[in-house]
Amino acid sequence: KGMVEFNNVSFYYDPSKPILQNITFVVPPGQTYALVGPSGAGKSTIIRLLFRFYDIQEGVIRMDGQDIAMVTQSSLRQQIGVVPQDTVLFNNDIRYNIRYGRVSAEDEDVENAARAADIHERILSFPEGYKTMVGERGLKLSGGEKQRVAIARTILKAPNFILLDEATSALDTQTERNIQSSLGKICENRTTIIVAHRLSTIIHADQILVLKDGQIVERGTHEELLEKE
Ligand code: ADP
Ligand code: ADP
Repeated sequence: KGMVEFNNVSFYYDPSKPILQNITFVVPPGQTYALVGPSGAGKSTIIRLLFRFYDIQEGVIRMDGQDIAMVTQSSLRQQIGVVPQDTVLFNNDIRYNIRYGRVSAEDEDVENAARAADIHERILSFPEGYKTMVGERGLKLSGGEKQRVAIARTILKAPNFILLDEATSALDTQTERNIQSSLGKICENRTTIIVAHRLSTIIHADQILVLKDGQIVERGTHEELLEKE
């Protein structure tokens, strides 16, 4: 479980100015693929088509063989965890925010997710631990810390597919690498990950797809792409 297939997917707001052109790729189950390229290349659009934030206009996107245009949005989103660029959190404690939507999750699982997202200390480092607030009434979290909460929430959800849209971009490079790597370890062979990022060096990916002006212009492993340079 966890195959993603884009078959000749194109997308536009204005037909004379295509945003994506004939995007075709297959992600085998359990692998991590990176969408890399400059701002405006179309990375977010691919991510958004995958969870049907946008309607599919041309081409077919399949998950585990099923055309995602044919399934209900709720059943699609049950299988997918999306970590966006900007996460809005509830004015409540960090654990609440990580657990959100999974009321029955054990504390231990919440903590493991927090550890993987490198925010565990933040939970523990206050005397009243559980009471660490994220909203205006309590402690403020930085953009990077919010991203980590969102990543922890997705890890706890344990979906078949995880989509990260510049989800670690508010963090310093080393922390980004650490989180990408722990995410990779946790999800190894069980979860298919698609990550959009401006830089390929951050990511531990099985395959990198380089996008430019809505087209895939290069693809390969890190090493293969370095050789071509
Ligand atoms: P990336 O994630 O690589 O930065 P995006 O997928 O966000 O790229 O954007 C791809 C292109 O689509 C950009 O040229 C952007 O300006 C354009 N775009 C995004 N949203 C809209 C919109 N609502 N209307 C028109 N153009 C848009
Ligand atoms: P983000 O970069 O946070 O994913 P968007 O996807 O909304 O933001 O927008 C990506 C780019 O598309 C931005 O540069 C934005 O200015 C541009 N854009 C967004 N909406 C429109 C629009 N309606 N028409 C033209 N460009 C747009």
